Amino acid sequence: MYTLTNPATGELIEEITNATDDEVRAAIERVHRGYSSWRRRPVSQRAKIVSRAAELFAERADELAAIMTLEMGKRINEGRGEIGIVVDIFNYYADNGPALLADEPLSIKGGEAVITKGPIGALLGVMPWNFPVYQVARFVAPNLVLGNTILLKHASICPRSALAIEQILRDAGVPEDAYANIFASSRQVPWMLADERIRGVSLTGSEQAGISVAAEAGRNLKKAVLELGGSDPLIVLDSDDMDETVRLTATSRMRNCGQSCNAPKRMIVLADIYDDFVDGLAKRVADYYLPGDPADPATKLGPLASASAADEVAGQVETAIQQGATLRAGGRRIEGPGAYLEATVLTDVTPDMAAYAEEIFGPVFLVFRAEDEDDAIRIANDSPFGLGASVWGTDRERARRVAEQIEAGMVYLNSAGGSQADLPFGGIKRSGMGRELGPAGIEEFMNKKSIRL
Ligand code: NAP
Repeated sequence: MYTLTNPATGELIEEITNATDDEVRAAIERVHRGYSSWRRRPVSQRAKIVSRAAELFAERADELAAIMTLEMGKRINEGRGEIGIVVDIFNYYADNGPALLADEPLSIKGGEAVITKGPIGALLGVMPWNFPVYQVARFVAPNLVLGNTILLKHASICPRSALAIEQILRDAGVPEDAYANIFASSRQVPWMLADERIRGVSLTGSEQAGISVAAEAGRNLKKAVLELGGSDPLIVLDSDDMDETVRLTATSRMRNCGQSCNAPKRMIVLADIYDDFVDGLAKRVADYYLPGDPADPATKLGPLASASAADEVAGQVETAIQQGATLRAGGRRIEGPGAYLEATVLTDVTPDMAAYAEEIFGPVFLVFRAEDEDDAIRIANDSPFGLGASVWGTDRERARRVAEQIEAGMVYLNSAGGSQADLPFGGIKRSGMGRELGPAGIEEFMNKKSIRL
C-alpha cells in the first residue's frame, strides 16, 4: 500500500494499492521502449523540455509544498524552499547539459580519439520521503538531459508528490515512455533490478535499503548510485559571536525537523568554548523550537514524517540516556495523535553507546567536547558514515586545513547541511557511492565511449 497519513494529526487520508507484478513489468517495457526514441532526440530538445519542467515546478511551488506538508509534515516554508532548489537543478542541467555532453577530443599515442558521452538505457530510481521533490530532481534532471529513461519508485508515504512530479514532467513534454512513476513495493525492487531492460539504479535512502539494492545490483552487474545516511560532524573551532554560532548550527540541524541526510548530527566543540556552546544550544532549543502546525508559516517545530519515525527517534534518545548520556534539553515524545518529538540536546555520548555510531534522523543534537583541533578531527572521523561535514571558526585557513582532514564527501566552512545545483553531492564509507548534482551528477549513468579515429 502507498499510504498517505497526515503526520501532524495522525489522520489517514488515502491508500493506494501497490502495482501488480504485471503492471511493473509493463512499466519496465514502456521505459525500455521509450529509450530508443528519447535518446535519439537532439540534446537541445531534451534540454528545452527540462527547462520547461523548471518553469512548471516554479509555477506549482505552493501546490507541491502543500502536498509535502500533508504527506510528511514538512513546514510549509521549507517546502517552498525545497522547490526553489528543484527549479535550480532543472535549470542547471537544461543550461549546462549540452556543454557537459559535448564530445571530448583526445590526443593519443599514434593518433587521435574522441570520447562521446551518451546514455545507457532505462534506469530505476528508488526515492525517500524526506525531500520528496528535491531527491527526485537530483536523479531525474541530469538523466533526462543525458537521454536515459526513468522508472521511478517513490517512498510509500509520498504518493501525491510522486504523481505531481510525473504530471509536471508530462506537461513539460517528457513522453510517458521516457518517465514513468510506478507504485511498486520495495519487495518488487530486487526482481526489477534483475530485469535485463533496467540498466542501472539510483537509490536514496537508508543504509539497509542501500545494502539490499547494492547486493541485487551487484548480482545483476548493474551500475548503482547510493545516496545513504550520514551522521555529519560539525566542528566548532572558535567563535567571535557564540549566540550567532549557536543560532546557525541549530538552524542547520533543525532543518526538515532533523530529517536531512547531511544535517550536522554530531556537534564537536573545542574545550574552551564547549560550556558556552552547550548552554546556549540547550536554551535555544527549549525556547525557540515549539511544536505547531506545519501548514502555519510561523511554526518552528513540525512533526516528524510518521508516528513510527517519531517513536524510533524517541527510542534512540531513551536508549542513549539509559546508557549514560546526559539530557540537556527536550527528550520527550509529545503526546497526542501527531508525530511530534521535542528538540533534544544530549551530551556525554561515549563510543560504547549506540548513539555514538548510529544516524539519528530527527531533531536531536549530540554535543561532544574535543580537547583540541586534532581531537576534534579524530572524533569527526570516528564514524561509519562519511557524507558531509562542516568546520566553523574565524580563521578561514585553519578551518580549511581541518576540512582537508575530514573523511567525508563534502565539507562546508561556516555553514552546514546545504546543497546547491552546481556543487557535487554524495558520500563515502557507509554513506554510499557516486555523486549527484554539478557536472559529476550527469556522469554516473553515462557511456563515455572511446572512439579511436
Ligand atoms: P528508506 O526506508 O531506505 O526508503 C527509501 C526508499 O527505499 C523508499 O522508496 C523505500 O520504499 C525503499 N526501500 C526501503 N527498503 C528497501 C529495500 N530493502 N529494497 C529496495 N527498496 C527499499 O529510507 P527513508 O527512511 O525513506 O529515508 C531516510 C534515509 O535516507 C536516511 O538514512 C537518510 O539519511 C537517507 N538519505 C540520504 C540522502 C543522501 O543524499 N545521501 C538524502 C536523503 C535521505 P518504501 O517507502 O516502500 O519502504
